[in-house]
Amino acid sequence: MKKATSLLFLILFSTLQAQNSLPQDYFSNPLDVPIVLAGTFGELRSNHFHSGLDIKTQQREGLEVKASAAGYVSRINFQHYGYGKALYIQHPNGYTTVYGHLQKLAPKIKEYLRKQQYAKESYEIELFPEPGELSVEQGELIAYSGNTGGSGGPHLHFEIRDGSQRPMNAQMFGLEVPDSRKPIIQGLFAYPLGDDAHVNNSQARQKLNLIPLNDGTYTVNQVEACGEIGFGISTVDQLDGAYNHNGVFRIEANLNGDQVFEIDFDKFSFAETRHLNQLIDYEYYANNRSRVQKLFKTPNNPLSIYGNLSEEGKLNIKDSLDYQYTIKVTDFKGNERTVRIPIKGQISDNIKKREQKATDYLASASDGLSAKGEKIDVYIPGGSLYEDAYLDINFTDDMVEVHKDEIPVHKNFTIGFDVSDYPAEEREYLFIARLSDYGRPNYSTTYKKGNRFTTGTRTFGKYTLVKDTTAPQVRPVNFYDGQWISTNETLKVKISDDLSGIDAYRATVNGKFILMEYEYKNNTLTHYFSDNVLTETENDLKLIVTDNVGNTNTYTAKFFRK
Ligand SMILES: [Zn+2]
Repeated sequence: MKKATSLLFLILFSTLQAQNSLPQDYFSNPLDVPIVLAGTFGELRSNHFHSGLDIKTQQREGLEVKASAAGYVSRINFQHYGYGKALYIQHPNGYTTVYGHLQKLAPKIKEYLRKQQYAKESYEIELFPEPGELSVEQGELIAYSGNTGGSGGPHLHFEIRDGSQRPMNAQMFGLEVPDSRKPIIQGLFAYPLGDDAHVNNSQARQKLNLIPLNDGTYTVNQVEACGEIGFGISTVDQLDGAYNHNGVFRIEANLNGDQVFEIDFDKFSFAETRHLNQLIDYEYYANNRSRVQKLFKTPNNPLSIYGNLSEEGKLNIKDSLDYQYTIKVTDFKGNERTVRIPIKGQISDNIKKREQKATDYLASASDGLSAKGEKIDVYIPGGSLYEDAYLDINFTDDMVEVHKDEIPVHKNFTIGFDVSDYPAEEREYLFIARLSDYGRPNYSTTYKKGNRFTTGTRTFGKYTLVKDTTAPQVRPVNFYDGQWISTNETLKVKISDDLSGIDAYRATVNGKFILMEYEYKNNTLTHYFSDNVLTETENDLKLIVTDNVGNTNTYTAKFFRK
């Protein structure tokens, strides 16, 4: 007894030590408002785990963003998509903090950036200032919060990364995020995995009905199964003061009291983030838009977030034996939700067989697949798929359907089109598009070499050639040709393209480059007169906007300023 107690103490102590080895008072809240999260670390997103905390900014932009600790600005990355306007601070203790979707930078840093943007004549830019160039104190104003890049509403994306640029759960560093609510279980599924395995007389995935109990836990009706099976769970967490469905911190499962599975959202690397598609039931997500996390590990899965697994989390259910499988879902604050699943081992000779989906195209995970139609070919290299799979591939004259987006693809496969039937002048306007479920064409980066067009993609679906002969549209927003606009702080223009999409834009005034910031979400280009690059009274604006096949609109207008 004494031995068991001291062992328990040792385990508890070492767990605490591991957590305490992270600095707890080093990083401060980068905002002046209390932290309320719209997104947690490790949350399941499209093709990636969320790498930071999404901190709410009272539904508005322009909140002051402060350095979370002293250090120096080590990277400034401005992109149309992704993090939008992002700032990185390197700290003396070896960690890096990241601030994303910013509206604008604080004056000192902005000045440094503007110089470089004008030198490069580009809004999109990536800079790595040297130590000492842009030092900041803890709590110093570094930026204003915004909604730039791939952001669905105003918030601050905040990350803490380790020395290998691996994002870590920033909540582990003592940032206070109130949460007294238990995780929510949205769905529970059983998977027959072995060739002869079955669950409730079927070899197909089974949705189990959750039965809530008075003590806040869940159970399900007894599951009858035999052979190798696994489970999957759809779960989210809600924090205090927010309606958002966020990610949980830990999921554990045990069988008859022994732990068989664990996953912890504490840290990961960007190299592994796309393997999220192996954690979730991708096919279920494709058809139901709900992410079920598999509580067992599939082959070729390098995710580092798994803890102790026994038999990769799979259960071997034997006839005539009883089992109790228990899932415990925990949020960062330790609020937990338990689901108990009674399993009865029972061989059945009346089982609904797994659907056989054999096609002409068996793609191997290791060797890939080549397929050829008359004018179109598909090349899937080895390592693109996680598991061998029969693919449905259908060629027509100018379209190929490469399966459905129900199987995850890890690395690019190539689709090639022979365009020799099209006259040269028509080819210029053609591009390869992926058709959405509703048939809307989305530009897929198209490489053109003589008669052959190719594209690389990581999404299965329908691909076809589309012709775009219309140049982008340009429309002034806050001025008109010939106007006096001395009191304007900005020059705003809307740009849009009907089919292939905007590729490039370049604005000059009186022949000199002016910086315009592009925000794709509202199709707007903005120049800030505070850049102080315009000195004349009479100004000739020339804006050239090009779409992805090269159609160009050259817009000119005159404006006056004093
Ligand atoms: Zn975020």
